[in-house]
Amino acid sequence: MGNVVWMDGSLVPQEQAKVSVFDHAVLYGDGVFEGLRQYSGKVFRQREHLQRLFDSAKAIKLQIPYTPEQLAQAIEQTLAANKLQNSYIRLVVTRGVGTLEVGPTTCTRAGVFIITDKIQMYAPEMYATGMAIITASVVRTAPAALSPKIKSLNYLNNILAKLEAIDAGVGEAVMLNHLGYVCECTGDNIFIVRHGELLTPPEESGLLLGITRQVVLELAAKLAIPNRQANLMRTDLYTADECFLTGTGAEIIPVNAIDRRTIGDGTVGPITKQLMDAFHQCVNGR
Ligand code: PMP
Repeated sequence: MGNVVWMDGSLVPQEQAKVSVFDHAVLYGDGVFEGLRQYSGKVFRQREHLQRLFDSAKAIKLQIPYTPEQLAQAIEQTLAANKLQNSYIRLVVTRGVGTLEVGPTTCTRAGVFIITDKIQMYAPEMYATGMAIITASVVRTAPAALSPKIKSLNYLNNILAKLEAIDAGVGEAVMLNHLGYVCECTGDNIFIVRHGELLTPPEESGLLLGITRQVVLELAAKLAIPNRQANLMRTDLYTADECFLTGTGAEIIPVNAIDRRTIGDGTVGPITKQLMDAFHQCVNGR
């Protein structure tokens, strides 16, 4: 039997897991989602991911027709059915089926589905040697227009930046915000190290508050690595000693070049290595 998908309360073969063309998620990108990760049979930071999902839904006045506990059970059920121990989990809430009207008043019930799959990470050698990235010409959506804190199904801003990365032949693109400060990448948050200090853009720069970002800040505190959230300019990236990205799928991925400029000496730096080790211990041991 192939992979099964949890859809609105039942497990269905993936070929039958379909969303209506009248679902406003399809018509308008109206919905929210989460990406979670399972390590050795346990879902990592599940409570935080579900909290962010419910916050995203609340921010767009979308009622999720399940409790966080019910969704946690649904995740367990899907993982068990697919016999997974180490996997990536995609949890999506759509506005639901309605008329062609942009307003969601005719969408009476949100659709929920859960896909579990093998982990998609960057190529293993990139974790050893680092990955090249670019700064995108497209700026991050201004928080006053649509807050990137909402993990919504509107990913076009990110996709436009990702297309620039693909065109440049690199793995990620970092977006600046509407004020010119470094914000985040298309699916990852960004950190730099300079003179022994770990720096990452603050919440006010208009980023998604990444759960991996939070874990890294906690690990830095535990390891007594000086750390600070600070507005960064493109120049700060170019002159950094170390740089890495964080995300549920990527974990911690070192960056060795930005816009073809070598970061530090072009190898994975000591603080990045220390945090990568601590992160692996954290996800495996907790
Ligand atoms: N920023 C964006 C735009 C993302 O899509 C993601 C991935 N969810 C992240 C940052 C990293 O967040 P997390 O560590 O919670 O996966």
